[in-house]
Amino acid sequence: MDSFTMSYTGICFLLGILCMIPMARHLLFENFLEKNAEKLTDGKNVNLTCTTALESMFDRFGAAGTANFTSGKIVIQYPYCNYLRGFLKNPDYPTQYELWSLNTFTHEAMHVRGERNEQNTECQSIQRNHIAAVLLGVRESTADRAAIRYFVEMYPRQKEKGYFSKECAPGKALDEKLPGAIWQRSSDKYEGKGRWRPS
Ligand SMILES: [Zn+2]
Repeated sequence: MDSFTMSYTGICFLLGILCMIPMARHLLFENFLEKNAEKLTDGKNVNLTCTTALESMFDRFGAAGTANFTSGKIVIQYPYCNYLRGFLKNPDYPTQYELWSLNTFTHEAMHVRGERNEQNTECQSIQRNHIAAVLLGVRESTADRAAIRYFVEMYPRQKEKGYFSKECAPGKALDEKLPGAIWQRSSDKYEGKGRWRPS
């Protein structure tokens, strides 16, 4: 092999390795989300996929995430997996979409856990978003603040989608009375509507 061919082969090999890095990162993140989603589903198996940018472009449903109740397959759309990465990098000062992506992760896990009704699913998610954030590596106090902020500021906007229920509140019908539920502590942790990091 002459020196030109050797250099050419070396460059191709290096480019090949460089191209594989984003794919490996993608797979590792999916695996990380999948393993932690399973901790929220009462032992039900999860198969979680983050779509690629191209797959997201052809998505017909327009939802941030979907779950198959029987197979445990969760699909999170490309932008929301990216927002979730962003949330995990900067959980103290998230964008609205980043906080939304945390709830998408928890919400879809609640479907796999067995809930089909959207209002119940969303309320179960609200009562576990702080647990999900801690599982994903967020400090407990930050996770609590993020979960409370979702409940206070973003949940009311779910009315248009039909995910909101007046019964999802402390002492109401959808209160699962989980130990350490965010709304039992919200007055200590929530400092009022803060600024969102611009997206
Ligand atoms: Zn749902």
